[in-house]
Amino acid sequence: MTDTPTQLFIGGAWVDAADGATMPVDDPATGEVLCHVADAGPKDAKLAEEAAVQAQAEWARTAPRVRSEILRRAYEIILERTDELAHLMTSEMGKPLAEARGEVAYAAEFFRWFSEEAVRIDGGLATLPDGRNRMLLSRRPVGPCLLITPWNFPLAMGTRKIGPAVAAGCTMVLKPAPQTPLSSLALAAILKEAGLPDGVLNVVTTSRAGEVCEPLLRGGRIRKLSFTGSTAVGQLLLAQSAEAVVRTSMELGGNAPFIVFEDADLDKAVDGAMVAKMRNMGEACTAANRFFVHRSVAEEFGRRLAERMGELVVGPGTREGVDVGPLIDRRGRAKVEELVADAVERGARVLVGGRTPEGSGCFYPPTVLADVDAGSRLMDTEIFGPVAAILTFDDEDEVIRRANDTPWGLVGYLFTEGLDRALRVSERLEVGMVGLNTGLVSNPAAPFGGVKQSGLGREGGRVGIDEFLEYQYLAVAVS
Ligand code: NAD
Repeated sequence: MTDTPTQLFIGGAWVDAADGATMPVDDPATGEVLCHVADAGPKDAKLAEEAAVQAQAEWARTAPRVRSEILRRAYEIILERTDELAHLMTSEMGKPLAEARGEVAYAAEFFRWFSEEAVRIDGGLATLPDGRNRMLLSRRPVGPCLLITPWNFPLAMGTRKIGPAVAAGCTMVLKPAPQTPLSSLALAAILKEAGLPDGVLNVVTTSRAGEVCEPLLRGGRIRKLSFTGSTAVGQLLLAQSAEAVVRTSMELGGNAPFIVFEDADLDKAVDGAMVAKMRNMGEACTAANRFFVHRSVAEEFGRRLAERMGELVVGPGTREGVDVGPLIDRRGRAKVEELVADAVERGARVLVGGRTPEGSGCFYPPTVLADVDAGSRLMDTEIFGPVAAILTFDDEDEVIRRANDTPWGLVGYLFTEGLDRALRVSERLEVGMVGLNTGLVSNPAAPFGGVKQSGLGREGGRVGIDEFLEYQYLAVAVS
């Protein structure tokens, strides 16, 4: 903790906010203040933007191999510092250390993946249909980017954006979530150590997100916005981006259906449910939000899931043996409590959990609700907590219709032993990703993203770098 920077990172230097403002970073396990970091205002954001704009031309000319090796070196440093970074993340965000270590590995992998992609940016030469003129196609960095990240995966959401931006030759202003600024500041220090030139990455931590970001989006110098967060904020930022026609990628909220058919292997389904629901205490956009279980296996599935959920140990993420850490803050926990109370009022049975423990810290127990009424608020709200809501269904068409009956479309989970059914149902689900007999879809090598109000564009995979590249076409007359 003592070595973690707490200032803004602008033009390769660590600086205070221009007006000297700072903001507290809380430990969600105790409610106590961990430290204070600089709280940037619009003036600081303009300086960060200026640094990114100034660095852009030279960075775009820098050899792809050089960009690649910086990412590779940063990947190695991150892995060398796994424990340190995991502790930092757990203290500001709450997830258990084992999960935080897992996130460090996941986050680092984006740098390795994009270090490999940086040197594979290709172009093309083609003869046009007239048989004479040629088309020369090259790919160019889109320009200075604004990257905005959420608090739930403080390190990985940063590397998933910084990795492709660096690989493509873009400069950046990163604005992390106010709850978890430390992981992003630590990441900036690592990239500097790995040789990233000054001004390529700038980090502004702030409690005044709107004031800081809006002028950048409307100002015409930022050419790309990559946002991960809630749909409501994403919609606002899309509107702000329209004025200067800023390119956008949006990774927004989800409302994942988790469908268990009567021919599912229930061991696999319960294992999958534990991951899809309990990864990150349920504070994930990919978290299973609505469990649709075939009526013939619903009782058995609910019993087994409740048993497994009931065995999980809740406590501070830094304590050995803890499986479930605190939720991010009191507001987040209050929302979960309200959603559970609403479901119970409408007739849901609590199979396990459902009671907020006494004491400081934002803990909430793993909870399973059965016989959830389809009109319950948690059916169309991201729960963002360790609550599994089970509903039953009778046939395939019905469950597909109900699964798709939401404005979101990030991910769906499907448990069946029939290949025919797996393909048929996957194709009809309105989602960007499907987990078939698995509760985990996130992988740096795969294109992550959603349809409908879950977002625009993809992060990771072969296509992840495309979000940061433009085509330039050169028409060549050949006589
Ligand atoms: P949020 O939308 O409240 O905040 C996300 C980020 O936007 C934060 O950095 C916040 O400071 C910033 N922000 C808020 N208002 C802003 C404004 N007016 N202008 C500019 N920036 C602003 O979301 P959150 O609570 O931090 O994160 C949880 C949400 O993120 C959930 O909805 C979750 O589903 C989503 N999420 C999506 C993905 C994905 O890849 N699809 C991944 C993780 C989280």
